[in-house]
Amino acid sequence: MITVTRAFKNYGDFSALDDVSLDIPPGSLTALLGPSGSGKSTLLRSIAGLESLDGGTVHIAGNDVTHVSPQKRGIGFVFQHYAAFKHMTVRENVAFGPKIRKLPKRQITAKVDELLEVVGLDGFQHRYPAQLSGGQRQRMALARALAVDPQVLLLDEPFGALDAKVRADLRTWLRRLHDEVHVTTVLVTHDQEEALDVADRIAVMNRGRIEQVGTPEDLYDRP
Ligand code: ADP
Ligand code: ADP
Repeated sequence: MITVTRAFKNYGDFSALDDVSLDIPPGSLTALLGPSGSGKSTLLRSIAGLESLDGGTVHIAGNDVTHVSPQKRGIGFVFQHYAAFKHMTVRENVAFGPKIRKLPKRQITAKVDELLEVVGLDGFQHRYPAQLSGGQRQRMALARALAVDPQVLLLDEPFGALDAKVRADLRTWLRRLHDEVHVTTVLVTHDQEEALDVADRIAVMNRGRIEQVGTPEDLYDRP
């Protein structure tokens, strides 16, 4: 679904991506795991088109998107610190993307209902973002990103700012969401436990390179 081929990215004489190739199968939930500064975010942003490569290519669903704008790559993106529209309710926030794409009203209503239910916010749809907990806000962010039916969902440490209990809870939500929606998902995390818990594939990064790729069982010996 996503193929990165021989990607290079330099910041001055620092090599953030140093000959990275990665194949992400359709429908998978792949974690990019590695220490801070290892290039995970740079790789994710390159897939999103938010970063231009100094060498190499990115293909999504067979199309070369290396020089295609982020808006035209068919991606949904969730960041650590999510910016929602403050003056819109949860429901209006989730409906925003489909609305500007001018989808039929009935289709928007059905889509938004479904997503709010999957992320467990159906009872909170008329609240404003400031009235949500951190965990609820990130679940709203997931619903927003999915509302436009992206081909690919990219998550950059989406739970990083939250405490351990809420993070664990959100992993369960993400897993459930992925089982329902089956969208190809890439999750950046520095947390091995998080990667082992949610991902079906893990790419381990270090110093701008991918060191290993495999299933959690391939990579780690867990009791
Ligand atoms: P990770 O996501 O694994 O923490 P990043 O991809 O964010 O790593 O960063 C990889 C390296 O590239 C880091 O050392 C970071 O300081 C550097 N870097 C990232 N973005 C920039 C930038 N815009 N300018 C200069 N250096 C950057
Ligand atoms: P999450 O449920 O996403 O893990 P928290 O652990 O922070 O979020 O919150 C636990 C529960 O407390 C939530 O599921 C929600 O029902 C309730 N809650 C948190 N913040 C609020 C709020 N601002 N208004 C109403 N209920 C809240």
